[in-house]
Amino acid sequence: MLSDIEIAKQAKMLKISEIAKKLGITEEEYEPYGHYKAKLSESLYEKTKDKPDGKLILVTAINPTPAGEGKTTISVGLHEAMHVIGKNSILALREPSLGPVFGIKGGAAGGGYAQVVPMEDINLHFTGDMHAITAANNLLCALIDNSMQQGNPLHIDQRRIMFKRCLDMNDRALRDIIIGLGSKVNGIPREDSFQITVASEIMAILCLAADLEDLKKRIERILVAYTTDGKPVFAKDIGGCGAMVALLKDALKPNLVQTLENNPALIHGGPFANIAHGCNSVRATKLALKLADYTITEAGFGSDLGAEKFFDIKCRFAGLKPSCVVLVATIRALKYNGGVARADLTAENVPALEKGIVNLRTHIENMKKFGVPVVVAINRFASDTEAEIEVIKKTCAEMGVEVSLAEIFANGGKGGTDLAEKVVATIENNESNFKPLYDEKLPIKEKLGIIAKEIYRADGVIFTAQAEKALKEINELGYDKIPVCVAKTQYSLSDDPTKLGKPEGFEITVRDLRVSAGAGFVVAYTGDIMTMPGLPKVPAANNIDCDNKGNIYGLF
Ligand code: ADP
Ligand code: MG
Repeated sequence: MLSDIEIAKQAKMLKISEIAKKLGITEEEYEPYGHYKAKLSESLYEKTKDKPDGKLILVTAINPTPAGEGKTTISVGLHEAMHVIGKNSILALREPSLGPVFGIKGGAAGGGYAQVVPMEDINLHFTGDMHAITAANNLLCALIDNSMQQGNPLHIDQRRIMFKRCLDMNDRALRDIIIGLGSKVNGIPREDSFQITVASEIMAILCLAADLEDLKKRIERILVAYTTDGKPVFAKDIGGCGAMVALLKDALKPNLVQTLENNPALIHGGPFANIAHGCNSVRATKLALKLADYTITEAGFGSDLGAEKFFDIKCRFAGLKPSCVVLVATIRALKYNGGVARADLTAENVPALEKGIVNLRTHIENMKKFGVPVVVAINRFASDTEAEIEVIKKTCAEMGVEVSLAEIFANGGKGGTDLAEKVVATIENNESNFKPLYDEKLPIKEKLGIIAKEIYRADGVIFTAQAEKALKEINELGYDKIPVCVAKTQYSLSDDPTKLGKPEGFEITVRDLRVSAGAGFVVAYTGDIMTMPGLPKVPAANNIDCDNKGNIYGLF
């Protein structure tokens, strides 16, 4: 089979004007970025505001292996399949981050015959949203350091600056740095650190903002530092919030592209789900609901991270009511969860699958706790055997959930018609009684306790001394009645990436808490999770190339 980029290069793309036309979008309502990408204009929101919303379908997954297990692939293929069975759907996905593109995972525009295109653009600079977010973030950082340099009128404590610089790259050397070295004119020397752009609060804000006005208010509310006598300093006190909005004004507009089968896709906003809230923008999702009968969206990593935050943060804030969850499972990942080494995943191993399937069971049970009906999608890999597929079908039958074998990677939309039909039937035959998992007004410890017990299946939550101190401060500032966003490893339901399957008899350790006052949640850091990833021994970047004509190779 051809590689992802080879398949993408063969795509017969339509001009973006044709894709817009399919959605009833007029020329005044989009701004083309070249021939195959566009940004959707504000006027489209006004035009569609009285239209009824379509149905919202969330694609999530079991705990992944390091390669990712095909949520984007299934999302794209389900969308194509909807059109094959005569339904009108649209995609609302996240924008890829450059970090993973050059790291372990590679691109994030789908795979095989289920991709969004132009995949090189989408995976690299796209329409510049990531750059704009990085620039806005770093403008605020420069203004903070400049305020201290220029006499420090706000009395910022240089040891207590929470707002960090960012870069859309996996660059571990920037995790802990010292800035301002040299002479007096080079600023105040202090410890600082970079995080990856997709972990930045600016990214979260962009994804949760209702419009430009809300974007500005949220930016102004960012808690950037403390004064020497322990008072909070907000971005509004620093200044420059208007300039940040100026940098972000186009980045706030959803991007329109197409799939390999020429169906429309919105790709906008891209926080990771392990270190951030993991969902595409509220603006894109809300617009998508107006533009089609079914909106298919994806939340990052396993359902313990992405889906929980999608429900408890995004849906809660935006008032969204999802109608169905598609839970992606792969036989490979379940065998990995059953203890099989990565190199041996292609060999049939029913006993390991039967052991690892406890991970799928737990994710199914967890999704039911949100009151939304579940359909399991088996993302078929060439190495899957009939005996292995039977094991999953049997488990799903026992648990009373629909299951579909999706051959989307190999066959595109026509490989997913069974899944599409099951999703449509599930939505028609089952009422969604969506409700968030916890009451946001509960104390932070109680909220974390509920997530840990109900989703991670932990016995309890341990707070380190640092976390207790941070909690006290957050409570005193009055930020305790907002949702929590847990930063946790994606590989395990627990906070230890080596505990696979369904870990038991463990506790979650919260080592620090930070307020993202602009985004509207408190981030709880568990385990060793870092907000600046590193590169692996053989980075994907080493296999990417570009010839003299500008053709790109090796993206996958
Ligand atoms: P996720 O969204 O869960 O991170 P992706 O859809 O991005 O996962 O897929 C991760 C990688 O796995 C991609 O490189 C994709 O091409 C590959 N992939 C997905 N599904 C299959 C499949 N059925 N067979 C082979 N490779 C696949
Ligand atoms: Mg994905």
